[in-house]
Amino acid sequence: MDPFLVRFAFFWYNDAELFHDSEEDIERKVKIYADQGITHLITFSCTHFRWSFQPYWGLINECLAKIVRAAHKYGLKVVEHHSSELTHQADTPEQVEFLRNLLKFRKSSLESWPKLLDYLRDQNSDANKWLQINEKTGQRNINRYQGVGKCYNDPEYREKYLKYLESVYATGVDGIMTDDVQYYCYCTCEHCRKGFKEKYGHTLPPPEKWDEWMNTPQNREFADLLRFRHDSTRNFHVMVKEHYDRLGLKLLRPNYHSFAFSPDTQSCGIDRLPEMHWYFQECALSCLIRFSFLKSACEQKHRVMIAKEKNIPHGILNYAYTRDELVFSWGVAMLSGSFYTNTPEGGDMVDESLIRSFEKKYASSLFHCEALSPVGFLHSFENRSYSPGYIMSRMEAWVQMCILRNMPCAMVNTEHPEHWKRCPVICVNEIHMLSDKEITDLKNYVKDGGNLVISGQSGIQDKDNHIRTKEEMDAIWGISFEARHASKPEITPYGKGKFCVVPDSFAYPLDEKDIASMFKADISQYNFNSELLPFLLTRHAPFVIVAKTPPGLKRESNITELYHGLMDRSPELMELFNTLSPRVFSTELPEGILASACCSTEDNSITIRLLNTTDALIVDDKDNFISRKDTVVWKKWQGGDGTLSITLPENEKISGAVYCDLSLQERTLSCELKDAQSNTYKITLPAGLLEDFGFIKLFPA
Ligand SMILES: [Zn+2]
Repeated sequence: MDPFLVRFAFFWYNDAELFHDSEEDIERKVKIYADQGITHLITFSCTHFRWSFQPYWGLINECLAKIVRAAHKYGLKVVEHHSSELTHQADTPEQVEFLRNLLKFRKSSLESWPKLLDYLRDQNSDANKWLQINEKTGQRNINRYQGVGKCYNDPEYREKYLKYLESVYATGVDGIMTDDVQYYCYCTCEHCRKGFKEKYGHTLPPPEKWDEWMNTPQNREFADLLRFRHDSTRNFHVMVKEHYDRLGLKLLRPNYHSFAFSPDTQSCGIDRLPEMHWYFQECALSCLIRFSFLKSACEQKHRVMIAKEKNIPHGILNYAYTRDELVFSWGVAMLSGSFYTNTPEGGDMVDESLIRSFEKKYASSLFHCEALSPVGFLHSFENRSYSPGYIMSRMEAWVQMCILRNMPCAMVNTEHPEHWKRCPVICVNEIHMLSDKEITDLKNYVKDGGNLVISGQSGIQDKDNHIRTKEEMDAIWGISFEARHASKPEITPYGKGKFCVVPDSFAYPLDEKDIASMFKADISQYNFNSELLPFLLTRHAPFVIVAKTPPGLKRESNITELYHGLMDRSPELMELFNTLSPRVFSTELPEGILASACCSTEDNSITIRLLNTTDALIVDDKDNFISRKDTVVWKKWQGGDGTLSITLPENEKISGAVYCDLSLQERTLSCELKDAQSNTYKITLPAGLLEDFGFIKLFPA
């Protein structure tokens, strides 16, 4: 089956399925998914922290086998998904309470598992072996789940986990998601100490020396530890793959991760997995969908980039509970050309037939597609992972401004300069760590006609964490960075293209004081202690922080202020982009109506996806408190007819346009050639036609 047409859903197996359901019961549940057009089930269970449930592995596998039989009967594939290492703890009342609540949330209970607490408390059980050791205490690391994680460098754990996987494979599953391969501390277990010494030649300090060692500016040894951690998680994934390869199994390997616009403090390195067939973003549980959508749409740019490199589909996983949340979050996926998956925590899928019928009707235009991407944003795995001065906030703010202003944009990777050509403008935002080769690649991009917008001290640091002097910077770039301190951008022609250095305060959504502490610090003084890093936008509650609001709680938020900051500062950025390169897609639509244009590589059709997000980022509460009660609302279209303009290559012509929405009723729109010289077409969108999600299909002449 075409991987781009695969539709995932999560199938929960909790108490009902594990202890009570007959084969027929499971079949009945699976059939509901099959009837809605779902093709692949990813399992999820109250036994997710699988090592906690070792006394019950036999029972869990029996249930899994039942699910597999039922799924195969209806032609569905099954991907088993569990945490490969997280283990609950039950030593303190808080830990027991956490476990009790989690099990209840996931439609189970502590009483359902009579052997569980004794097993978790038995210090000789596998639950308490092979643990990540906290760098500052020298003791087991209790993580944010009130549990512990295992260390990927422990040979006994690796062997035991593979044995367990063999028992899972024996149930007939078609794929495996080994979740949570990440570090929750800077593990200093004996295997990490030994491996680090062998590979990088450094000795990890004892707990009492940790802070001093870690917080030395430009600490090369610490940067090496970060590299070692990435090696460790990746090697674990390689081990799992080589193992099932040896068994002759061809397993499906979807994978996801939540945030790429932030330091990878847990070294999960999903970008570099040895095998991945679908790549999606987890819009984490307890995110308020209405306030998180901009973050989701922004993060998706990273998934699109990685997925394109691997030629695999990219998607979004959401936890939508209502019809409106489902349509809204699905709409965000459609804007990004991504597949969509939903799972309300614990089970009970919202009826998805509405969106799945739409997808079925327009499949050829929807998923095999390339978004227009005149503006690129440079991503560097190395900078994100190993530079103590990693700052994502300007890039994130700019990407969000582009989304709000319907400016097509994409991320581009330092590792693939051959992909940069499709973006006439590329922004390098505070990418401090750049190798000599990467700077040469960027200069060649400009020489060949590209436009490079540079902010901050990009390139100030090489791959060995060495700080380049001003003279070295001037020599390697061949341009001056004085405009950082000026009042407006400075554009310098170079070869067939242009360099553009922008002032530190340019198009930044926070006030001058924040900008000063954010961007004017001397990066050579940065260390790796994230407490001290200038993540001001993060501290000011960006979408990622503000969105995480668990049920029953409310929290104060400045999301409205931040939204206004993005809207107020975006015109200067859009003007700069328009100066550097003619705009190929633009809209005149009421504020909050988002639009993106995509070209299908399947049927060559051009489609425009529209989502009504009017006032979604304006907090209703006058005291700025937000909670789960802030659900999605569809505000009425404000103002008169809207227009959309799209410029096509000169040999491409359009004969007409139709509008469609979830009602599946089509309606012809006015579409005319506005400017023959530039081959620009104008489409009129009548006021009020768009209610929630809309879709315009353009017909080639
Ligand atoms: Zn370790």
